[in-house]
Amino acid sequence: MFKVYLKPGKEDSLKRFHPWIFSGAIARVDGQPDEGEIVEVRTARDEFIARGHYQIGSIAVRVLTFRQDEAIDEEFWNRRLATALDVRIAIGLADCKDNDTYRLVHGEGDNLPGLVIDVYGHTAVMQAHSAGMHLDRMTIAKALVHVMDGRIDNIYYKSETTLPFKADLYPENGFLFGGGTDNVATERGLRFHIDWLKGQKTGFFVDQRENRALLERYATGRTVLNMFCYTGGFSVYAMRSGARLVHSVDSSAKAIDLTNKNVALNFPDDARHTAYADDAFKFLDHMDTDFYDLIVLDPPAFAKHRDALHNALQGYRRLNAKAFEKIRPGGILFTFSCSQAVNKDQFRTNVFSAAAGTGRSVRILHQLTQPADHPVSIYHPEGEYLKGLVLYVE
Ligand code: SAH
Repeated sequence: MFKVYLKPGKEDSLKRFHPWIFSGAIARVDGQPDEGEIVEVRTARDEFIARGHYQIGSIAVRVLTFRQDEAIDEEFWNRRLATALDVRIAIGLADCKDNDTYRLVHGEGDNLPGLVIDVYGHTAVMQAHSAGMHLDRMTIAKALVHVMDGRIDNIYYKSETTLPFKADLYPENGFLFGGGTDNVATERGLRFHIDWLKGQKTGFFVDQRENRALLERYATGRTVLNMFCYTGGFSVYAMRSGARLVHSVDSSAKAIDLTNKNVALNFPDDARHTAYADDAFKFLDHMDTDFYDLIVLDPPAFAKHRDALHNALQGYRRLNAKAFEKIRPGGILFTFSCSQAVNKDQFRTNVFSAAAGTGRSVRILHQLTQPADHPVSIYHPEGEYLKGLVLYVE
């Protein structure tokens, strides 16, 4: 196994179990490991400190284990995936009567940096974000079938857009196991078509489940605008709660089709719902004042990287300002940011200044984050990405 030697003192973050080794911390590499290969990381004093996937880039090693006696073999994958499943059973998401949609593996949060696995009914959708997870995909798939023990019939691999382009890995999307086409999954008793072939991410935004459920408590009798609806998740929960009317908006025509399909699957021929393919800013500009009394704003990540931060913050401010201007008095605003580069305080400050600009009295009812099946490792606080506020607007 190739060895990576750190510069003196650069092991401190590893002693606190942080799972990333930046290229700047490395003194030298013995030999020339291929991208994705398992390497052993040693301190300047030649002591073992970690073992992980090697990659050329700013994060040079993603740590899989800090234990010298733990090999990265079939048993390793079995153990890690079994623990991940135990956690989802403990949360009450796996083996649950009215829910078969959950995230089984959330990268660093499950001590598996670079790997995401979402479960939709009998299909697991696996996504590699590192060269190492891509190279190990068949071993992982085998362990997944073993650990899931009859719970899944298919594994779909979807990494064409998530792997580093430079690494020449040429990943192809496709089934690693099974090949079933039944793509209807259940989330808290509601049914959704999951488009893992062409959809965004693994086909669905599993991370909004608990926030959708919270919306269900507020939507009864209300006139709801679900902005950036994608698959219509928030819309379907609003319908179930007895909303008076639900409008879903997304700039993508495909998303609008999917939303209509999902509403029809749960509430066929229900005249309360209409979906519009439109740009969010245009729609908000043109809509009537005081028409909606519940608005959801769940935009895509405005800032994927730190450089885009300033524009992203302005984007959140402009978007929220429009909602504050037009929401009916006594209205409820669910507003989110999923940009990793934007922290909780920055998001909050920008929503505050949007509110202040309109002069309305605004109370925070709930502060939201990602659900328990998207856990954050206590040693890797960067893993917290989803932020949301539920606001009462007088
Ligand atoms: N709320 C959704 C997830 C939203 S993902 C859920 O619960 O599943 C973000 C969505 O915003 C995508 O579907 C994308 O097509 C849409 N989008 C991106 N830019 C937009 C814009 N300017 N106006 C409207 N929709 C936009």
